[in-house]
Amino acid sequence: MTISNNDKLFARAQKTTPGGVNSPVRAFRSVGGTPRFITRAEGPYFWDADDKRYIDYIGSWGPAIVGHAHPEVVQAVQQAAARGLSFGAPTEAEIDMAEEICKLVPSIEQVRLVSSGTEATMSALRLARGATGRDKIVKFEGCYHGHADSLLVKAGSGLLTFGNPTSAGVPEDFVKHTLVLDYNNVEQLENAFAEMGDQIACVIVEPVAGNMNLIQASPAFLQAMRALCTKHGAVLIFDEVMCGFRVALGGAQHVYGIKPDLTALGKVIGGGLPVAAFGGSAALMSKMAPLGAVYQAGTLSGNPVAVAAGMTTLKLIQQPGFYEQLSAAAKRLADGLTAAAREAGVTFCADAIGGMFGLYFSATPPRNYAEMMAGDRERFNVFFHAMLDEGVYFAPAAFEAGFVSAQHSDAVIDETIAAARRVFAKLAA
Ligand code: PMP
Repeated sequence: MTISNNDKLFARAQKTTPGGVNSPVRAFRSVGGTPRFITRAEGPYFWDADDKRYIDYIGSWGPAIVGHAHPEVVQAVQQAAARGLSFGAPTEAEIDMAEEICKLVPSIEQVRLVSSGTEATMSALRLARGATGRDKIVKFEGCYHGHADSLLVKAGSGLLTFGNPTSAGVPEDFVKHTLVLDYNNVEQLENAFAEMGDQIACVIVEPVAGNMNLIQASPAFLQAMRALCTKHGAVLIFDEVMCGFRVALGGAQHVYGIKPDLTALGKVIGGGLPVAAFGGSAALMSKMAPLGAVYQAGTLSGNPVAVAAGMTTLKLIQQPGFYEQLSAAAKRLADGLTAAAREAGVTFCADAIGGMFGLYFSATPPRNYAEMMAGDRERFNVFFHAMLDEGVYFAPAAFEAGFVSAQHSDAVIDETIAAARRVFAKLAA
């Protein structure tokens, strides 16, 4: 048997990089097998080291919303790079980007650019704590907000007990202020505020969750959260790193009609280069250094090349009909896969919102982490690898949402569904 280039690269990578990857999910640990090493990407496709083409449904985990290597984005990056890679001093392009974000997300009056979603949420938490003078934070099980210490935490053993670290190296002391509640559970949230509302600095939530597969929040859940935060003087943080500019132009806050106090953004706003942001009212944001006492900084924050990619992407997604087409593509995929599974008699369902989708090996979409974990993960793994063989790259774990781009045409989606029909037939056999 010949060894594939992907196998060779994986073996080589593991010698100098832990697990062979620079971000854990890329390693295929959950699904098994050899990760594909990507050599190039264009539109809805990428190619691996053995020159096999895949229809890509991760889109760099969200950023590639206009499709890979969009000519206008590439040109903007090339032009910016030719003018210099980084200055460590302000540029007009950063003002343009801030103005664009404030225009598109009305709850944001002022915004600070950073280089990763982790920095955005970590800084938003610090601001919430600094502004309220409180320590406790509320998060929801299954929501991922980056890898800051106080957010790497799972629920404690009893209701309303503080959490346990989910990573080695995170001291208990760092998570002892983090209360972890169930997603979509209004009663738990009400109880938490009834018991300790005056100590809660903030609630942080993915208003459309994409890190425990796709799970949509119920409107009642987000409305209760907004009302409780207002009543008790806590800061409501929407982590829209994934769902911002993904579920709609104005993000989940536009879809649900709820105004958070702070918003974290990332992924799409960098168009594939490292840009993320956090922002909110001018009153809150003025508590940031250099004006206020909450410190945060970054050598490459607002990097001119990254901002050029992000700004061009933000322009492209405002073209008329962009989100209608994107949503139609995700829905065509979700509906087509569901129908193909039903034909084959495989228990499966799918959901989509904007350009995001979820695939579930369960009869109905999950509403929280526990329900998501109850899905048939073994079946997902078989499905994943069979689709990979067919040239379709879904997220390599049952816990992840999927993404379409504006380049996922009807023909591309239909090719995917045809492949899935063959795979579901095998699964049923
Ligand atoms: N928040 C959410 C909702 C995310 O999905 C992610 C990344 N998947 C992050 C924060 C962290 O962003 P980054 O990986 O850029 O640090």
